[in-house]
Amino acid sequence: MEAIQNVYCVGRNYRLHAAELGNEVPKNPFLFMKPNHAVVMADGQPVVLPGNVGEVHHELELVLRIGQTYDANLPMERIVTHVALGIDFTLRDIQNELKQKGLPWLRAKGFRNSAVITRFIPFPGLDGLMEQDFKLLKNQETVQQGNIRDMLFDIPTLLAFTAEHYGLTEGDIVFTGTPAGVGSVKHGDTFSMLWGDLTLGTFSASVHA
Ligand code: ZN
Repeated sequence: MEAIQNVYCVGRNYRLHAAELGNEVPKNPFLFMKPNHAVVMADGQPVVLPGNVGEVHHELELVLRIGQTYDANLPMERIVTHVALGIDFTLRDIQNELKQKGLPWLRAKGFRNSAVITRFIPFPGLDGLMEQDFKLLKNQETVQQGNIRDMLFDIPTLLAFTAEHYGLTEGDIVFTGTPAGVGSVKHGDTFSMLWGDLTLGTFSASVHA
């Protein structure tokens, strides 16, 4: 597979998550980016995360892999060739501080290892995606569960919007937003990301100052 290029992330794409953080539901898709240096695989190894910077939150998300430059005339499976699950790790206290000051979110969202992704599987189509929930287990317990049918902006809308405003080409990936249930991470927590009953990736958190 080609190297990962741009890492787009969609914010506030599930109503219950927007509500749990006290955010309004957006009228248009709301995107930010992470450096591709933030990406790390959930391959059973510990993932090092920053400590002593307030709460580190997990946000479980469906991740789309773009296999070909976006073209509205192409069928979706030619553009989105693979999907994975991922965690958009967020320094929540830092993010709140940045929001208050009107500063960019990079410090809270773009640090090393802030984009953990599982192995990619072939895109099962939108109907296939809706058939099963995706979920995050923390220390063996389900903490987040989502289904793309609950997205505020659906996948075709996200792709068209991203392509129009920022560009979408081979190697780009898109984190499509987190369902409710985000929460904090402690040193030694173990995480598994599941698609239905299929475990796509696991890792443990190594939280260091
Ligand atoms: Zn997110």
